[in-house]
Parts: sequence; structure tokens; C-alpha cells
Amino acid sequence: GTITTDMKTLTAEIEKFAKDKKIEIDTLKIREEYRKDFLGNVSHELKTPLFTVQGYILTLLDGALEDKNVRKKYLQRANKGVERLIYIIKDLDLITKLESGDLNLELSNFDIIELIQSVFDLLEMKAAKKKISLTFDMDYPSPIYVRADLEKIQQVVTNLLVNSIKYGNNDGTTEVSVENLIKNKVIVRITDNGEGISEEHIPRLFERFYRVDQSGSRKEGGSGLGLAIVKHIIEAHNEKIYVESVEDVGSEFSFTLEKADT
Ligand code: ADP
Repeated sequence: GTITTDMKTLTAEIEKFAKDKKIEIDTLKIREEYRKDFLGNVSHELKTPLFTVQGYILTLLDGALEDKNVRKKYLQRANKGVERLIYIIKDLDLITKLESGDLNLELSNFDIIELIQSVFDLLEMKAAKKKISLTFDMDYPSPIYVRADLEKIQQVVTNLLVNSIKYGNNDGTTEVSVENLIKNKVIVRITDNGEGISEEHIPRLFERFYRVDQSGSRKEGGSGLGLAIVKHIIEAHNEKIYVESVEDVGSEFSFTLEKADT
């Protein structure tokens, strides 16, 4: 017969075989477990912001609506909760697509320095709130062309920079550098001097919904999916992602990219 090299085709074949024979096999069980686990996590993630929103609505219905000043405050808070829900759902949507391999990469050549600068600009306000500076750790950040999916790499850089702000200390710094690695690769490093991550958590960091500090992350409005999304995107490019971190000292996340032919 034919040799199957690709996992998706293989899984499809196994499923068809199982269906034809009306038998249950392990892959199906694993998938089912995975699905249950995922749905369990999802409902858990959505519960907290939903109850928060409901809390404000109930308080308003309970009489707070009469008070002009309180009314506005509660509606703003309820809206914050809704924004949070939208953010989580966007991440869920993305991770679902990434995990099912439904998302095709759209490769193009672009300047990674310019992309990083544009993310710096987008996050400037967020960083300023904690007096964190976002800078390049390079003498002259001049154009470096890479070949990748621009939008998805923008998502990667955004997630990593947002984390460096969320888990960074007030008055801290996040430094980004891009260096040549081997002949056709560059490595992007994002280094912060924030709270860091203790060793025992490192191996599980990129799992979806994994958090070092549950309440800390939720307070910061995280979905627990940021790093899982980052890992999927980098691996879809056949590139590598690394993390080095020391608790109370800081973290460095780095990933490789292919240089564009010039
Ligand atoms: P979220 O930030 O939404 O919780 P992520 O997947 O982005 O989810 O990150 C997972 C966990 O990794 C975070 O909850 C946090 O504990 C830890 N983490 C990620 N980035 C950093 C960082 N730069 N410094 C310290 N801890 C971090």
C-alpha cells in the first residue's frame, strides 16, 4: 500500500478504518479526552468574567441604577468584563485553528525590526502605565528581512511583549534584539527584568491554560493561552522557541526565523 507520512492523513485514515469496522480505538479515545479537557478549561475560563459582569448587572438592578454616579462606574466595569470575554474568545478561536492545523501560513518577506517597532508603538501606553521602557538592545536597529507570516509573527511579538509588561516590575525594561544565528537564520530575543519564573514551571509554560500564578494572571486579564499560541505559530514555521528565566531576576524568550533571500 501507500506510505503515509503526514499525521493528519494518518489520523483520518485511522478514523475511517474505525468507522468502517465499527470499533473504538485509542486515537479516538485520546481525542475525546482532549476535547473534554479543552471544553472543561474553556467553561472555567469564561465563568470568572461572566460572573463579574453579572455581579454588576445585579447590583444595578438592585437599586444602584438610581444613583447617577454609581451607575456609570458599574456599567464601565461590566463593559471591562465583556471586553475581557471578547479577548478570551479571540484567543480560543485562534488556538483552536492552530491546533487543528486549519491555519495556513502566508509567507512574505518583511523587515522584522520595523514589525517590532510597530508593536512597541501599539504597546507604548500599556508599558507607560507601569513605567516600563520598550527598547532595542542593538547599536543600530537597521532593517533585517525575514521570510514568515507577518501577521502571525506580529501576534508572537505582541504576546511576548505583553507578557513582559504584565509580569514586569514597575520602572523595568524590556529589551529586544535580533541577531544572525547561522547562515540563513536570525534569533529574536525578548528580555525583561520582571518577576521571572521558577524552574519547576518552565517545562509546562507553553501548555494551554497553564499559569504560574492563577490569580495574578487572571487579574492581569490573561487567557492563559498566550504562550501556547506563540509556540504553535513558531512551530508551524518549523522554527524554535526558547525560554530562560530566573525567579525575581527576569526572563528571556527567544525564537528563530528564516532570513529572506536577498
Ligand atoms: P497568561 O499571561 O494569559 O496567563 P501565557 O500563556 O501568556 O498566559 O503565560 C503563561 C504563564 O507564564 C503566565 O501566567 C505567567 O505565569 C508566565 N509568564 C509568561 N511570560 C512571563 C514573563 N515574561 N515573566 C514572568 N512570567 C511569565
